Amino acid sequence: MNTRPLYFDYAATTPVDERVIQVMIECLGFYGNFGNPASSSHAYGQQARQTVEQARRQVADLVGARPDQIVWTSGATESNNLALKGVAQARGFSGGHIITSQIEHKAILDTARQLQDSGIAVTYLVPDAEGLITPQAVSEAMRDDTFLVSLMLVNNELGTVNDVEAIGEVVRSREALFHVDAAQGAGKVAIDLSRWPVDLMSFSAHKLYGPKGVGALYVGPQAQQRVQAQIHGGGHEGGLRSGTLATHQIAGMGAAFAVAAAAFDEEKKTIVALRERLLEQLLSLPGVRLNGSASQRIPHTLSLTFSEGEFNSAALSQSIAFSATSACNSASNTPSHVLLALGHDAQLAGRTIRLSLGRFTTVDDVDKAAELIRTACASAPAFWATGL
Ligand SMILES: *Cc1c(COP(=O)(O)O)cnc(C)c1O
Repeated sequence: MNTRPLYFDYAATTPVDERVIQVMIECLGFYGNFGNPASSSHAYGQQARQTVEQARRQVADLVGARPDQIVWTSGATESNNLALKGVAQARGFSGGHIITSQIEHKAILDTARQLQDSGIAVTYLVPDAEGLITPQAVSEAMRDDTFLVSLMLVNNELGTVNDVEAIGEVVRSREALFHVDAAQGAGKVAIDLSRWPVDLMSFSAHKLYGPKGVGALYVGPQAQQRVQAQIHGGGHEGGLRSGTLATHQIAGMGAAFAVAAAAFDEEKKTIVALRERLLEQLLSLPGVRLNGSASQRIPHTLSLTFSEGEFNSAALSQSIAFSATSACNSASNTPSHVLLALGHDAQLAGRTIRLSLGRFTTVDDVDKAAELIRTACASAPAFWATGL
């Protein structure tokens, strides 16, 4: 039988949870909830609006925000663009300085480059040896004209978790805005925006068992009036993001976030146990190293470098779906900018894989994957010849 590779790439995307699919289907057909949420004069529109607002509450609830602070977007890429360009444009692109890091997602790095072209100075902080951005590093980089700091909560390649609460204190004390890309953090790290000193936060549905093509931006009290819309055409979402709301996508994101909230503690325990089981079997191999902080991390995402012996990650990917860098870097086929920032050379970066676990990972998956990797390291030529 032609079986699919084991799935160990939850950090690239997740399947949509069956419970979420059911909620989405109900928003599509003629006998369903298909109205335009902006058609407030009739029942079809009113019902769709109710669904959108319920989803907004579900997203807000997972992260300790108020529903009116959540703006729908097409994904975390758009949320990041809206946060960075929106804040810069609200100041009339009048120079100034922003701080981000070398290990951000391309949706931040490419957007920051665009802002540089408009005359804004950008500092790209170097992570420490653990893959973390420290509050001290942010503090030292702050200038009098720094108006925005943008850092990720959880790194998509390493799984490391920045102390955004402490960093936020530094940013607040200097009266800049603080944006956090939480695409990899929502549902995995307990986020409380009612307490955290964070002004803008980006979310994506498809990293958390929701559909692709929908996300959200949290806009906190300090950021109100300081973000300019980037997509115009009807003034939806309080004027911050026009376009007919995609009811089925939004309902799916809401349902996915509600499921994540309900499953949070249980899921964390399960993933920790699976991670331990996997690491136990892999870290005993010679020359294997876990990249990034051992303690300040989520259990889901593991970046492993195999520095000794034969290691052919292309062949291994026949039987295990993992990421050789990140899906986003893979598109450009260059060594991971995150690993280079951590001090890896291109060769070591090429001997690094990211394994990410999730809701549907089983003990059996973990044992099979560990066995495949161990075999690949131990007897490389024979293994590749059998084409397992
Ligand atoms: C996946 C991801 C994004 C992009 O999200 P999309 O919804 O796919 O646009 C941005 N930032 C991080 C950290 C991500 O992991």
